[in-house]
Amino acid sequence: MRLCPICDGYEVIDKRVAVMGPLKEAVKKASFMRTYTRDLTVLATDGACRMDDCSGPLREAGIRVEACIPNSLRPLGEHAIVVLSGGATGAFDAIYPAMGCRTGAKFGIDLGATCDDLGYLIVDAHQRTVVPGLYAAGDVVNEINQIAVAFGDAAIAATDIHNQLADTNHGFRH
Ligand SMILES: Cc1cc2nc3c(=O)[nH]c(=O)nc-3n(C[C@H](O)[C@H](O)[C@H](O)COP(=O)(O)OP(=O)(O)OC[C@H]3O[C@@H](n4cnc5c(N)ncnc54)[C@H](O)[C@@H]3O)c2cc1C
Repeated sequence: MRLCPICDGYEVIDKRVAVMGPLKEAVKKASFMRTYTRDLTVLATDGACRMDDCSGPLREAGIRVEACIPNSLRPLGEHAIVVLSGGATGAFDAIYPAMGCRTGAKFGIDLGATCDDLGYLIVDAHQRTVVPGLYAAGDVVNEINQIAVAFGDAAIAATDIHNQLADTNHGFRH
C-alpha cells in the first residue's frame, strides 16, 4: 500500500498498480498515475462500477475498472491481492488508496477561521486566515500534501508575520 503518487510514483513505473476507493476519487488519482504505468486498475469500493464507467477517456487511457471488496486486501509474497466483486482475485505490485481524508482544520475553525467545502482552511496570498494574526500553511490549506508546499506556505506566512511585526514595532519592512 502506498499513499502518495506525487511522492513515490517513480518507484512504480511500468508496474501493476491499482487505485482503490470510491469510483470518482479513484479515477482522478488513476488518471494522475497513468503517466507512470500502462497497467492500471481502478478498484471501486462504492459498488458504482458500471460498463459506462469503463468507456470514453478511461478506456482510451487503458485504465481498467473493477468493483472490489475492500476488506479482502491481503499480502501474498511481493504482491497485494484483492477479491473482486465477481469472486476473482486481482494481484498488484502496489495499491494506492483514494478514499479522501479529513483535514486537521478543526483547531483553526474553532478559532474563527473559515474553510472550503473540502475542509481546507481558506487563506489569502499571504497565508492569512480571516482571523487577524492567524495564519495557516501546508496540508491544512491544500490537498497537494507535499512537504515542499508546506515549507513554501510557511515561508510566505513567516515573511508576512515578520512584516506585520515590523510595522507594529518599528516601522521597518522586509
Ligand atoms: C505515509 C506518508 C508519506 C508521505 N510521503 C511524502 C513524501 O515522500 N514527500 C512529501 O513531500 N510529502 C510526503 N507526505 C506528505 C507530508 O508528510 C505532508 O504534506 C507534510 O507533513 C505537511 O506538513 P504540515 O506541517 O502541513 O502538516 P504535518 O506534518 O501533519 O504537521 C502538523 C502538526 O500539527 C500537529 N497538530 C495537529 N493538530 C494539533 C492541535 N490541535 N494542537 C497541536 N498540534 C496539532 C500534528 O500532530 C502535527 O505534528 C507523506 C505523508 C504520509 C502520511
